[in-house]
Amino acid sequence: MGKNLFHRLENIEDVEDFYEAIDRKHLSQSLSPERPYTYWTIELYDKSNGIRGGGGLGVLAADTRRVAERQQVPFTLITPFYPSESHQTYLNFENGAYHEQVSYAQYGFNFVDTINIKACGQICTLDVVEKILGSTRILCITEPNFGELYSGESGGDHRLYQEVSLGFGGYQALKLVGLKPAIMQLNEVATFFAALARLDELASNGMDFYEAVVYTRKHTLYTNHTLVQAAEAEFSYDQFERYVFPNLKSKAVKKWLSDKFDNGRIRLSTVTIEIAELRSGVSKLHARVANYHDLAGNKVKFKAVTNGIDIPTWTLPEIVNYLKKKNILDKFDLPGEKYLENVDKIEASEIKALKEAGRAELNRVLSHRLDQYGNHPVIEGDALIFDFKRRFVDYKRPWLPLTNPERLAEILEKYNIHYFLAGRVHEGDWTMAEKLRNLLETVDKNPILKKRVHYLPDYDEELGRALSVGANVSINTPIVGLEACGTSWMKDIINLGILVSTHDGGVADCPSDSYLCVSGKTEEEEVESLYQRMEEAAKAWRSDFDLEILIKTELKNFVPVISGSRMLRDYLNYLF
Ligand SMILES: *Cc1c(COP(=O)(O)O)cnc(C)c1O
Repeated sequence: MGKNLFHRLENIEDVEDFYEAIDRKHLSQSLSPERPYTYWTIELYDKSNGIRGGGGLGVLAADTRRVAERQQVPFTLITPFYPSESHQTYLNFENGAYHEQVSYAQYGFNFVDTINIKACGQICTLDVVEKILGSTRILCITEPNFGELYSGESGGDHRLYQEVSLGFGGYQALKLVGLKPAIMQLNEVATFFAALARLDELASNGMDFYEAVVYTRKHTLYTNHTLVQAAEAEFSYDQFERYVFPNLKSKAVKKWLSDKFDNGRIRLSTVTIEIAELRSGVSKLHARVANYHDLAGNKVKFKAVTNGIDIPTWTLPEIVNYLKKKNILDKFDLPGEKYLENVDKIEASEIKALKEAGRAELNRVLSHRLDQYGNHPVIEGDALIFDFKRRFVDYKRPWLPLTNPERLAEILEKYNIHYFLAGRVHEGDWTMAEKLRNLLETVDKNPILKKRVHYLPDYDEELGRALSVGANVSINTPIVGLEACGTSWMKDIINLGILVSTHDGGVADCPSDSYLCVSGKTEEEEVESLYQRMEEAAKAWRSDFDLEILIKTELKNFVPVISGSRMLRDYLNYLF
């Protein structure tokens, strides 16, 4: 690997330094450019490389690759390139959508060759395209009718086609570019077919079937993001006859897979558990409570590897420089030696100056984004900004702060707060579209809310970053027990914002007094707690003493959690 390739990594000599920093000096024997860490995902959220995702699963995939690139770890991410992507519009209380065509060439992908898979008695030819980024590469399979991310019903034929293409097609693509996977990380069960393709290759090339199973299992990591196995979609035997079995060469593998059906139906998690000996959950809480069973009926144990973020991607550069200068972060974006003592030296005046720079950045982005009335909601002066930004889904409870509109209006007015709400409704989710409409009608009826609550449609990475960088307080209120990890709150904390959150997902990696915790035995109590926390947070921004305590406490607890390099270290430790 030529050093000139890594001009972004000025301070890092080479990957050996990183391996040493994470105490894994011998890793270069396990990982090499020809034998990379392989990461399989149906969703990638990395628009700068042309691929838009739907939410946290894709953001995590993009960040994992970016961290690997930054630390020069040999890493290949295999994912579909979707030729079409959906966007949300919102005007006159109507949730709408438009679709955009995307071409891989426009984003710097190079065509490698084609591969074939079999489906419904036909040969489907897919393009293999790749983009090399430092020590990493994004390897995609695609064809003009591949469709959009999560198009059609989950459990439907088109999804199965997409998943089979990624697995069997992606596995052939790896061989086309001359790579052998040192490890296969399956980012959720939609990527099961990649491990199946490997098993089939081994078993059809002369390896004893049971040896092939053992080998595949040893080198496959299944990363679970879901809580309840029963919530997962099922496929039928008939669907497998059309899309899956025709791609298998080994009779033994086909028999093994057929035996896993129960009453003619199968859940991919059932077989993913069988094929992956390594299994992880995405936060401490999630790994503990995810309720999965193997075929023998035993509860599956998940190793907790809490998600992290690629800090430079999501943080205002001025803040990254500040955290590095203070040695709160080291050159690998790991917590610096003595970071606890260094966090104690932070001053409120510095936090405020950095947040002012963040506000300017947010306003720059808002000047080309629209609110629910079609205006650009730029916020000037010393108003505070609160935000709620995440997919518009039930369990995240985007309506919670609006439970009592008068109370919210009173708080916003009293402390001069503007409240930003961002989050896409999944296309076709009429229930949530209706909830969004009700919410924004409530806002419209109250003159204070109408002035101070701004809904930003088409939530994406740009908005996610801008709000994290520019908002003073962020609100995160999933129903406790339902968020696997979440990463947007990490972006808020690292950008020196105050977090108001329920004790769930990765937030619960740290004690509940590490941030402003929303709690209560009933939803009513939680709402009351939320309003109190919002007031506390607003007051803290008007009091240097309180602000320092809150921000320091957050950083002391969460910097190690947030660090994407820490996450990569944890995965490497678990895998090798
Ligand atoms: C960070 C980010 C996410 C992750 O959101 P969580 O709700 O915290 O899982 C999703 N979408 C976008 C656009 C993001 O930037």
